Amino acid sequence: MAYPFFTLSTLREAAGSLVPPARLSVFGDPVAHSRSPQLHNPALRACGIDAQYVRLHVRPDEFTEALGLIRELGFYGTNCTIPHKFAALEAVDEADPLARRLGAVNTVVFRGGRTLGFNSDGPGLLRALRDEFGVAVRDLRVLILGAGGGAGRAAAIMCALDGCPRLVLVNRTADKVEAVRAEVASFAPQARLEVVTELDHATLAGVDMVINATSVGMKPEDPDLLPAGALGSGHLVYDMVYSPPETRLLQTARAAGAKAANGLSMLLHQGAVSFEHWFEQEAPLEAMRAGLLAG
Ligand code: NAP
Repeated sequence: MAYPFFTLSTLREAAGSLVPPARLSVFGDPVAHSRSPQLHNPALRACGIDAQYVRLHVRPDEFTEALGLIRELGFYGTNCTIPHKFAALEAVDEADPLARRLGAVNTVVFRGGRTLGFNSDGPGLLRALRDEFGVAVRDLRVLILGAGGGAGRAAAIMCALDGCPRLVLVNRTADKVEAVRAEVASFAPQARLEVVTELDHATLAGVDMVINATSVGMKPEDPDLLPAGALGSGHLVYDMVYSPPETRLLQTARAAGAKAANGLSMLLHQGAVSFEHWFEQEAPLEAMRAGLLAG
């Protein structure tokens, strides 16, 4: 199903005639690829909420105007994706402590005359890992590939906040991961943190879960992330990449007998967390999952 796509001016023109009325959005630049409408429109229907969720193309210099426009139009709030998560953190009246810790707001809520900011990506990852593997990271030794990137840094912070007993941070560019190590150590001194530059079999043998937070795996020509033969049947492997749904990392993991899952569940669960912030009720997860899988 094709969901509508607007710019600020086309939304302004069309808003009065949309059925159901547009009341939620995702701001992004680019935004046409966003799959969030596939999650939220089925959720709104399942809950009998007379509203639709739209994609809104917002350039960086339009962010403040866009926020003002949707507030004026009576929106419940909006999601923000690249490049707006930091601008959203700065723009809200109040950001919750986790959003401040992560330095990013991806969920804006208009409530009681105030603009509130939350981050659903971090909790969405933890819920996805529990959903896929039936365990919490507080009980696992976790290795994060790409820990110096945006998603990897957030994963490292979430694992540390959840009480992960051992965290191995890996990144191609050493400076970036060193900064993440220092940041995590500043609030989670109890976490056993390690930065690894050269991955070997012994390092992999010392962890229970591997999370890929690099963009490697999206293209067929991408390099292998792990040394050959390093995964075993005891590993849990989560690839944040979900397009393609079965990356080489996931194929390798399954061939080694490991449990493996792609990043679609992270997308699903961050959507559920956002929904809960907007409506203060449980998200209809199965309707959202079906919408996502329907494509
Ligand atoms: P980012 O900030 O640009 O970080 C990219 C990361 O990938 C960096 O750590 C980078 O290492 C690493 N990398 C890139 N090419 C590499 C290569 N050839 N070899 C080794 N490492 C390489 O991007 P991001 O926003 O964190 O996103 C990362 C991935 O997570 C993307 O695939 C994104 O789609 C996915 N993601 C998925 C979800 C979801 O809901 N499932 C949510 C967020 C992100 P350097 O620091 O050395 O450059």
